[in-house]
Amino acid sequence: MKKVCVITGGSSGIGLSMVKLFVDNDYRVFNLDLSPSAHGDFRQCDVSNLAQVTAIINDIAEKNTINVLISNAGIHFSANIENTSEADLDKVFSINVKGAYAAIKAVLPSMKANKNGAIILMASDQALIAKHNSFAYNLTKSALASIAKTTALDYAAFNIRANAVCPGTIETPLYHQAIDNYCQKSGADKAAVHRAEEQLQPLQRLGQPEEVAELVLFLASDKAKFITGSLQVIDGGYTAQ
Ligand code: NAD
Repeated sequence: MKKVCVITGGSSGIGLSMVKLFVDNDYRVFNLDLSPSAHGDFRQCDVSNLAQVTAIINDIAEKNTINVLISNAGIHFSANIENTSEADLDKVFSINVKGAYAAIKAVLPSMKANKNGAIILMASDQALIAKHNSFAYNLTKSALASIAKTTALDYAAFNIRANAVCPGTIETPLYHQAIDNYCQKSGADKAAVHRAEEQLQPLQRLGQPEEVAELVLFLASDKAKFITGSLQVIDGGYTAQ
């Protein structure tokens, strides 16, 4: 029987690469995203809507044992604390943190009943270091690291593992949108900003979504059965500097 993986935000970027890799590795993948996708088993869902996430995951769990949850949906927001309104903060928090909270809560009954489960949270290198003008994003990614550790401790007795993945700068639509916004505000040249971004990395390039997907596939597998409560950095050496 195929293993079952539920992923949020699987229609673009890192999430799409994970959906494709898990499908290629014989998982049945349910993709909960706002935007439709031809890959995996798509369920339209806004992860900031707790009732919707719960209803969709309960429906999946009625007919399947959920082996893996990848909480990946997230948005970026560039601003310092003064330029982050309460509404901005609520929005980023609702998607990046409450979305993960909702998905984890909903998969736990299935994983507990099966005494097996792997939960992977897509955090960021910004869970470990702060970046300028990223007040809400830094905060939410640090929260995800905490959720991974707490979940690992609270559910180890059920053989449920939880880990956070901390990618550095990965070339996805979210990355391009972030530098487009920056260039629009500052008038900077996009090609020059992109080159500068590459040069900031010890490996002198950005990461690719497929590289993050390979790490997550490993964490989800039995090969990683002694890894829980960890933060897995995949950043081309950026945070080692
Ligand atoms: P992306 O924008 O390419 O993809 C994000 C996906 O999440 C999209 O399919 C989008 O529709 C979905 N999504 C957004 N809001 C949603 C909501 N409310 N409900 C359901 N789905 C929603 O982004 P990406 O770069 O692939 O990022 C994926 C994750 O990786 C995010 O959590 C991001 O913070 C994290 N991350 C990205 C980078 C990077 O450099 N790209 C680095 C570190 C961490």
